[in-house]
Amino acid sequence: MGLDAIMYFRLGKPREIDTKLLSYKLASFSRIVWHEGPDSPCIYAGRESEIHQVLENFYTVNLTCRFWSPDYARGPFLEICSVAEFIESELPDAEVMYGDDCSENYYGFGRAFREEWKKLFFDSAYSTYRSAFNDRAAQVPICSFDNQPMYSHAWSGDKSLWACNACKEYALTNADTIILQSRPEPYKNKPTFEEILSMAKV
Ligand SMILES: [Zn+2]
Repeated sequence: MGLDAIMYFRLGKPREIDTKLLSYKLASFSRIVWHEGPDSPCIYAGRESEIHQVLENFYTVNLTCRFWSPDYARGPFLEICSVAEFIESELPDAEVMYGDDCSENYYGFGRAFREEWKKLFFDSAYSTYRSAFNDRAAQVPICSFDNQPMYSHAWSGDKSLWACNACKEYALTNADTIILQSRPEPYKNKPTFEEILSMAKV
């Protein structure tokens, strides 16, 4: 569950563009685009509106990542910006738009807008990144190793798995956000994926 990022662009002047080549180029460096090859490229003509009409002169960039905004600090914002920069570099008259998959509101995602949000991203990266789901908990647990606030990472029933943004340590809490279990040695022994899963299942 969560908001996924959506990106469109519109050309200043309607014309034929090579979406296949653009897709190949973009997929060669971006880890956040959905690209399965010639039959399923990450850039394609058309933009489906809420009433599923394909709008003329619109192109979709198929992102596979969470949305990021100052109010929803989750997705890989710098990578999202890099996709917009690529579009503008290849197609200087393109107007890039960015939004989430749960609303029909899109931001004009031009350079000035991105720079402003990058500042907010850098300012808040440490304190609020990944904090969108912290509201579910009665309180935010504090990492026992460095006294830093932890961030909700996953949950199952009334148990929550938290991660510390500072030392990347994990802790498991109950519904009252009391820490039930945490790992004894941060830094040295990163939990494996299986260990994280087994903690979440306690
Ligand atoms: Zn920590």
